[in-house]
Amino acid sequence: MRIAAVVVAAGRGTRARLAGVSAKQYAPLGGVPVLRRTLGALASTGAIAMLQVVIHADDRTDYEQAISGFDGPLLAPVVGGRTRQASVLAGLEALAPHRPDGVLIHDAARPFVEASLLTRVILALQHHDGAIPALAVADTLKRADDAGFISETVSRTALWRAQTPQGFRFNEILAAHRAAAAAGQHDLTDDAAVAERAGMKVALVEGSVRNTKLTTTEDFNVAERELKGSIVADVRTGTGFDVHRFADGDHVWLGGVRIAHTHRLEGHSDADVALHAITDAILGAIGDGDIGQHFPPSDPRWKGAESRIFLEDAARRVRALGGRIGNVDLTLLCEAPKIGAHREAMRVAIAAILGIETSRIGVKATTTEGLGFTGRREGIAAMATATVILP
Ligand code: MG
Repeated sequence: MRIAAVVVAAGRGTRARLAGVSAKQYAPLGGVPVLRRTLGALASTGAIAMLQVVIHADDRTDYEQAISGFDGPLLAPVVGGRTRQASVLAGLEALAPHRPDGVLIHDAARPFVEASLLTRVILALQHHDGAIPALAVADTLKRADDAGFISETVSRTALWRAQTPQGFRFNEILAAHRAAAAAGQHDLTDDAAVAERAGMKVALVEGSVRNTKLTTTEDFNVAERELKGSIVADVRTGTGFDVHRFADGDHVWLGGVRIAHTHRLEGHSDADVALHAITDAILGAIGDGDIGQHFPPSDPRWKGAESRIFLEDAARRVRALGGRIGNVDLTLLCEAPKIGAHREAMRVAIAAILGIETSRIGVKATTTEGLGFTGRREGIAAMATATVILP
């Protein structure tokens, strides 16, 4: 099933007063705009093939700033309508030429949606016209009269609080939205209501208490505090190891630096064993396969390729998750060439490829006391560790 997402960001969010931005979905949360966090969360599963954001006509600048550097499958934004319902329809119409099978419709102001929740909604779409995440109502419900007194206690049995993303078969929900608009109905507050109106069967799947909608300034303050508490928690570590053998030649590439030597290193690419180990360490930290999977040696495109391409790709994958590289530590194992004179050049080159400070790069070297294949000067081995900090 090819799944698209519509992210509704056209509202003005008057209930949260936030300095410097036009609407709450562009406000920074832990230093990152809310919309950017929401897009990152949706992209994190890899299950969503395209992201369509619906914006307010006045918000183009805020939007461009929010998505700057975002590397997900983002389509150009469309401008929404006067109501949420009209904005969703604009998003669906923009997706129609791409012919997705299913669509998740999500509030921009719900940045904490978890991958497991997205999976529940998407899986339910295989069996139903629609599926929405929902939470059982825990509090006792009261109906009030005009004077503010209780007129009735409402049974909470079978009552649920609807969240987003709400998932639907694409053609069905597009038709339902078109029909509601054509009938002059414009004030339905969620897409499940549009689906119900069209007679679609919409299933409930388990929602998540973390998947709150940021509405008031207090919501932002609570979220900011929670983020501070969780930032340390999601640090990932990866390791990489690589070996290349010596062959006839007059220089080697190590850590992005060309070093004159009595031999070259043999390999399909430029055989920069150091950059290969670092690439694998970063890919390992984000659980995204290894260098051979993304750049198969059998592919002629990578013959003689500069290994910086592989490392740039790994860094791009980290950014696509909204993450950043904490540090990289590299150890080279060889008798020769001597690394010390090139250490700083390697740190600078690796930092430039990754787009991080040189202070975050460690380069070390050791001999193996004449033992083993490195001791016999048959080749060079490299090992690396990388940490990645995910939002
Ligand atoms: Mg290699």
